[in-house]
Amino acid sequence: MASFRIGSLFGIPIRLGVSFLLILPLLAYLIGSQVGATVELLDAVFVTDVATEPLTDGAVPWLLGVAAALGLFVSVLLHELGHSLVARRYGLEIEAITLWFLGGLAQFTELPDDWRQEFTIAVVGPIVSVAVGLACYAGVVLLPTGLPGVRFVLGYLAVLNVVLAAFNMLPGFPMDGGRVLRAVLSRNRSRLAATRIAAAVGKGFALLLGIAGVLLLNVFWVVIAFFIFIAATSETRQVVVEAAFEGLTVAEIMTPAPDLRTVDPDTSLDDLLDRMLTERHTGYPVVEAGDLLGIVTLEDVQRGAPDPGTSATVRDVMSTDLVTVTPGTEASRALSTLQRGGVGRILVTEPDGSLAGLVSRTDLMTVFQIAQAGQSTSLTAEPVERQSPGGGQSPPGRG
Ligand SMILES: [Zn+2]
Repeated sequence: MASFRIGSLFGIPIRLGVSFLLILPLLAYLIGSQVGATVELLDAVFVTDVATEPLTDGAVPWLLGVAAALGLFVSVLLHELGHSLVARRYGLEIEAITLWFLGGLAQFTELPDDWRQEFTIAVVGPIVSVAVGLACYAGVVLLPTGLPGVRFVLGYLAVLNVVLAAFNMLPGFPMDGGRVLRAVLSRNRSRLAATRIAAAVGKGFALLLGIAGVLLLNVFWVVIAFFIFIAATSETRQVVVEAAFEGLTVAEIMTPAPDLRTVDPDTSLDDLLDRMLTERHTGYPVVEAGDLLGIVTLEDVQRGAPDPGTSATVRDVMSTDLVTVTPGTEASRALSTLQRGGVGRILVTEPDGSLAGLVSRTDLMTVFQIAQAGQSTSLTAEPVERQSPGGGQSPPGRG
């Protein structure tokens, strides 16, 4: 998802997805083009008497549309901040809040282990939305009738926030209600089994919404249904990965240092290429007198060698800006570090900085396939033993 950072709140980076920038003017247009009908509807819902006339004049509807769309943006942000601040109270690290066209995503670097924590983090978003809706409603009631535009926008946001909360409490992924359902189910099931049920319910809602969208010729519903289906599927995939790696540490899956092929920093690039060719190996830790200096890969050689045949050495092209893990790191955490860094291998170092081993993407995929093969037989039977306290770390989760 293409996104860029617009700032931060409470130390949490706030990112805007490109899709959100596209939907914002569309929303402003949709709201603006229906101001007249909406005023009548809001008057009926809130028993108010906001006059239609001044609000449908000239450019006024479009200004109201922009104000309501921006208000919706702030509402979604507050909802996600609710999730994030509670998660942080539980000691979870929040990577970013990203706003995209279906709303917001609070990305955590790990999921809570305790079902009560997941439950609380999930319900707080809809609770914030209801509170924001009530505050907007109070504004509609309390503000003087001389401010019809402001009362219109607040009334609109009151309804939207309550709709947002209600939609999010649908008990399937990727809605917050899906997380609540998983939390409750995982009291006496494995997280994987609970996730599968919550994802199946989410897919069920997506199918119903998609069918309704097709029958009512509502393209927007079909698009939303499609994204809900995709999100429900990817939620399961994340937890499948998490379950496959559960309890495994880097120490158990790495190639330990004594078995590693390393290279000396003074090796010439020609010699390195010869070695890569004969050993069919494209990445080597660079070690000098037992000290880890860096890593050199085929890409480093391609990037760093100006003229083939010059006397450049490994030292000239190697990467010294290393992303490392320790042998005690959770295997699933190593995988997400690999994915985030977009690299093919990651060095494992002891706390004193010496080389302990190396984990490659291929190693992780092999372990995953083996673990899955072993799991598919036991999955349907007994609940998987949960992590010991303070253990579990998982691929980036969503909230
Ligand atoms: Zn939420």
